[in-house]
Amino acid sequence: MEVVVAGAGIVGVATAIWCQRAGHRVTLVDRAGPAAGTSHGNAGVLAAGGLIPVSTPGLARRAPVMLADPDAPLFLRWGYLPRLLPFLRRYLGYGTAAHLAHYAEAMHRLLGDAHAQHMDLAQGTGAERFVSAADYAFGYADHAARRAEDAAWATRDRYGVRFEDRAGDAYDDPVWRGRFGHVVVCRDHGSVTDPGAYVAALFDHFRAEGGAFRRADIRNVAMHDGACTALDTSDGLVSGDAVVLCLGPWSAPMARKLGAARLSFESERGYHLDLVGASLRPRDSMMVAAGKFAVTPMEGRVRAAGIVEFGGLVAPASPKPFALLHRQLCALLPDLTWSEAREWMGHRPAPADSLPLIGPAAPGSWLAFGHQHVGLTAGPKTGRIVAEMIGGERAARDWAAFDPMRHSRRPPGRRP
Ligand SMILES: Cc1cc2nc3c(=O)[nH]c(=O)nc-3n(C[C@H](O)[C@H](O)[C@H](O)COP(=O)(O)OP(=O)(O)OC[C@H]3O[C@@H](n4cnc5c(N)ncnc54)[C@H](O)[C@@H]3O)c2cc1C
Repeated sequence: MEVVVAGAGIVGVATAIWCQRAGHRVTLVDRAGPAAGTSHGNAGVLAAGGLIPVSTPGLARRAPVMLADPDAPLFLRWGYLPRLLPFLRRYLGYGTAAHLAHYAEAMHRLLGDAHAQHMDLAQGTGAERFVSAADYAFGYADHAARRAEDAAWATRDRYGVRFEDRAGDAYDDPVWRGRFGHVVVCRDHGSVTDPGAYVAALFDHFRAEGGAFRRADIRNVAMHDGACTALDTSDGLVSGDAVVLCLGPWSAPMARKLGAARLSFESERGYHLDLVGASLRPRDSMMVAAGKFAVTPMEGRVRAAGIVEFGGLVAPASPKPFALLHRQLCALLPDLTWSEAREWMGHRPAPADSLPLIGPAAPGSWLAFGHQHVGLTAGPKTGRIVAEMIGGERAARDWAAFDPMRHSRRPPGRRP
C-alpha cells in the first residue's frame, strides 16, 4: 500500500518505519523536519511505570491552591481560561478512582515494555546509541511526602512495576547525597540521551531505506464519499491508500474531521532548561516530586524538564515557569554550575481522558496522537500497533481503550 504519515515526531517516525518494515511504500509529511515539535524537548525518560494521569481524584480541589502558589508546578495563562473551560470541566471530571483504574490498565499495556520496544525499533538503525536501560528515581523531601503518594505507588505495584523505597541517604548517586529525605527507585525503565537527535537518527534510517519525505504545511485532510484520500498541503495533495495522523498537539482539528467529532483536547505546555557544560551529572533521571520536573543526564548537558501550563498552542512561552525551574534547581543543587542555559517550551498533546487515540477513524485513515506526558515512551509501540492495524494483522478491538471514536459514537437509536 501507499501509506502517508502526517507528522515527524516520535510517533510519526515510528509509524513510518514500522509501515516500511511491513512492506508498504511510505511518505512522511512535516512542515519542518524530524522532531520539530514536542519530541525535541522532553525529559528523555522511558517511563514504563507512567500509569498515573495528571487528572487524579482531588485535583479539582488542589488546582486553585496550586495556581495561587508561585512555587507550584501548575500555571495558567488567565486570558486563555474562557477557551479552556469546556475542556477543563471534562478533564477534571475524569479525576475519579474508576477512571484511574481504567487508565492504568490500558497504559500498562502500552508502556510496560517500553525499553524493549525502543530497541526493536532502533536496533540496526544507528539510533540505538541514544537508548539505554536505566533506573528512574523519584526524590521526596521526606517520608511524609512519599506517603502522600501511596495510592499512586500501590497502583504501580498492582501492575508489576518494580520499585524500591530507600531513605534519601541510602540512594547512592553522589549528586543527590543529602538532597532528599526519601527516594523511590524504579527498575526496568530507560532513558534517551538526546530525544531530538534520536528521532532525527530514526528519520535518517527511514530515508535511507527508501522512505519519502515531503516538507509541507498540512492544511486539511481531503475526503471523498466519507473516506480520507489524501493530505491537503501547501505543496499540493499527498494521497495514499492509508493516511495516518500523527500531528501530536496539532492533531485535533483534522482528527475531528476524520470522525473524532466530540474529542476534547488541549495542549499541556511544558518547559525545559538545558544546562550545557553542567558541573554535576546525575547517573539516572530523577523526578523531583515536589516540583514535578525530571533532571536527566543528556549528551553534553543536563536537562531539567516538566511543569504544566494551560495556555493553548499560540501564546509564546511564559517567563515564570522558567524562573521556577531555575529557582528549584539551584535550591536543590547549590553547587551546580553550567556554561550556557537553553530554554524551551513545548506542547504535550492531551485528550481530556488522558488516553491517546490509536486506531482507525474515517475509512482510509488512522489516528495516532494524544500521548500527553508519555509520548516518547509509547511512540515506538504506537507505531507498531498502527502498522499492524493497517496490515490487518491486528484488530482495533485489541486496543479498544484507545479507540479514537470512543467519545464520538452515538448510542444506537439516537438521532444525530
Ligand atoms: C517538558 C516535557 C517533558 C516530557 N518528558 C517526557 C518524558 O520524559 N518521557 C515521555 O515519554 N514523554 C515526555 N513528554 C511527552 C512527549 O514529548 C510527547 O508526548 C511526544 O513527544 C509527542 O510526540 P508526537 O510525535 O505525538 O508529537 P510531536 O513530537 O509534537 O510531533 C508532531 C509533528 O507534527 C508536525 N506538524 C504539526 N502540525 C503540522 C502541520 N499542520 N503540517 C505539517 N506538520 C505539522 C510538527 O512539526 C511535529 O514534527 C514530555 C513533554 C514535555 C513538554
